[in-house]
Amino acid sequence: MPDKILLVEDEEKLARMVELELCYEGYEVDKAFDGRAGLELALSGNYHLVLLDIMLPALNGMEVLRRLRKESEVPVIMLTARDSVMDKVSGLDSGADDYITKPFAIEELLARIRNALRNHTPPEEPENGTLTLGRLSMDPECHEVRVDSTPVELTRREFDLLRYLLENKGKVIPREVLLDQVWGYNFVGETNAVDVYIRFLRSKLDEEFGMKLIHTVRGVGYVIKEEEPCGPK
Ligand code: CA
Repeated sequence: MPDKILLVEDEEKLARMVELELCYEGYEVDKAFDGRAGLELALSGNYHLVLLDIMLPALNGMEVLRRLRKESEVPVIMLTARDSVMDKVSGLDSGADDYITKPFAIEELLARIRNALRNHTPPEEPENGTLTLGRLSMDPECHEVRVDSTPVELTRREFDLLRYLLENKGKVIPREVLLDQVWGYNFVGETNAVDVYIRFLRSKLDEEFGMKLIHTVRGVGYVIKEEEPCGPK
């Protein structure tokens, strides 16, 4: 998935030029032309990085940054036309990750962007509720499961079971708990239903894609986690 960059810049020609260059480099870019719109988009949590001009209509860049920092750790690079020490100091003080003085060479900007993205560890779970473990990802809202980018077809029950395991990844879940949580308290049927469905999941995920995510804890139940990189199994 490409990194998404928000560009808040009121000089439309400059904004378009930067956008083209960033897209060419493989980033996804959204633009805002004033501080208020920029802040609103930045707060959406959809971006990996924000490029923020200081001199902006509606709300200046310093104020946007100040309000953004109350809620978000997203990397911010300030763009400033004024090469004054004051701007730099107060920009970095209020939580900017970097700044660049206009006019700048696009290569310089790209280097700063790469650097800021590298220094920033993304949040473990994406904002939209997607559950991930290693190469596996699940979007509960769209009822979608993928390994890498390959979709995996699961039945309703398999999906619910996998979802519960992923929501509790790393924790050992007893069979009875899985039965309660996934099949419901009133479920009447074979108590080995859990084992049967675990087998289905293993064959569709672990075996199909050469992973080992679903582990049996003998006498207790199951845990989903990434296999330790080494050691005998
Ligand atoms: Ca400006």
